[in-house]
Amino acid sequence: MSIDCQRELQVGLDAVSRAMAVCQRVRSHLITSDTLTKKDRSPVTVADFASQAIVCAALAEALPDDLIVGEEASGTLRQPEQATISEAVVNHVRSALPQADEATTLGWIDRGAADGSTDRYWTLDPIDGTKGFLRGEQYAVALALLINKRVVLGILGCPNLVTAHGTGAILYAVRGQGTWLIENTATKSSPVQVTSRGDVAPSNVRFCESVESGHSDQDTSQQIAALLGITAPPLRMDSQVKYGAVALAKAHIYLRLPTRSDYREMVWDHAAGSIVLEEAGGTVSDASGLPLDFAHGRQLEANRGIVATHGVNHDRVIQAIRAAGVNAS
Ligand code: AMP
Ligand code: MG
Repeated sequence: MSIDCQRELQVGLDAVSRAMAVCQRVRSHLITSDTLTKKDRSPVTVADFASQAIVCAALAEALPDDLIVGEEASGTLRQPEQATISEAVVNHVRSALPQADEATTLGWIDRGAADGSTDRYWTLDPIDGTKGFLRGEQYAVALALLINKRVVLGILGCPNLVTAHGTGAILYAVRGQGTWLIENTATKSSPVQVTSRGDVAPSNVRFCESVESGHSDQDTSQQIAALLGITAPPLRMDSQVKYGAVALAKAHIYLRLPTRSDYREMVWDHAAGSIVLEEAGGTVSDASGLPLDFAHGRQLEANRGIVATHGVNHDRVIQAIRAAGVNAS
């Protein structure tokens, strides 16, 4: 099924490009006071907030009735003790949108408060892989559109992804229309179609996983790799760039195995990445082989873990996970 969302695609690509530029600018001048720690102890930076404001502002202008399920909220920035960080966010947003002031910026951030219960909504992770961003490694600006609980459009801005044409790329996909790579966001090179399905010798099959051992059970991944006869070490990287790596056939199996039985994946962590890989020829499921079910609001309530492959032998990977005794229910 092919879907007509050319306008949404253009608005989304423009918004993600602007957000990527601001993220890179923040990163190049990052100071300690630009980062704070959320209740779940994960870091959030000036760039996370600025990126969400910029993307939400662009969607608000072009598609004012559309709802957004975004990761960040302005609550922390509104506290008097966060005045410095709030001011820095507004200044960065103003570099992209000169009309921004504090009230409009915080309002744009809060456009991301939708609960995902409607027939049509966007998901936004303004910086997926904040730890990668802080380390100067991989991170993504991840935007997706869902209609009737299905992802129909996904855009992954990958500012630190290196391709043949330089650093900084965007991968995007519309359901039924393949996955496309813009290789150099600075020169706006023409998109090229990508496939995950190149010929790969069994000895060259690679898996990829999170850098953070708290986000995926790396010891069990190692056992599964051994069961599958994979000898190459895993490619470890942050964020949904992992889906991009499989879409580009730089890796072939992305394993995200639960480290805690009570953790539920967030929709903004998988919506854009999953369509980018599926449209490149790959397969995405949870750790027990079930399709990702976006019908439960902000979380993938009915799924545990993630398995994303280049589209060859997906079932073998699921069998190996079962054989390794992973409890994915
Ligand atoms: P990654 O860069 O692939 O490790 O993923 C980063 C994402 O992991 C963040 O956006 C978080 O939403 C998510 N995350 C946080 N805690 C966990 C956890 N315990 N298990 C899986 N994912 C998590
Ligand atoms: Mg994330």
